[in-house]
Amino acid sequence: MGARRPGGLTDADDGQEAPVPVHFVLPSTSLWVLPVERWWAPDGDSALGRRCPVFVRSRDGGGRSRLRERQTRWADLVRGPLEGRRTGLDSATSRAVPVACVHAPLTLEEGVALGYPLMLWSRSTRHEDCAAFHQWVDELLRESVTVHELLARLRPLEAAE
Ligand SMILES: [Zn+2]
Repeated sequence: MGARRPGGLTDADDGQEAPVPVHFVLPSTSLWVLPVERWWAPDGDSALGRRCPVFVRSRDGGGRSRLRERQTRWADLVRGPLEGRRTGLDSATSRAVPVACVHAPLTLEEGVALGYPLMLWSRSTRHEDCAAFHQWVDELLRESVTVHELLARLRPLEAAE
């Protein structure tokens, strides 16, 4: 992030309503390892991830050839129920949410290429941390029938700690 204030970020955060999520659009999944939730807003006194949910988005979501798959999968995620999926994305249902860590065979590139509109992943380099991540994801998916329920349960890091 440069020195410029993100447009609307502070105006939108009045402290009264649910935090406004921040989305980073990155051109390559190789950049998704960047710890964007730990970056600080220029005016801020804490990391973004402590103030609001932070999402990373693909610039093209796998390209126009996957638009129909993304739309179908998103519509099914809205209806639910959601299914966490750690392997076999090519044979998963359209209600699957890929769950990955950097040590697992499932890759973010694969998820983007197959048109998955939502993925959850851990960037931890310590595989020992992944058990806690997978437990958190399992609870999140168990409590969330639809994608909107899941997104509503994503909290800033501070509230989750
Ligand atoms: Zn791992």
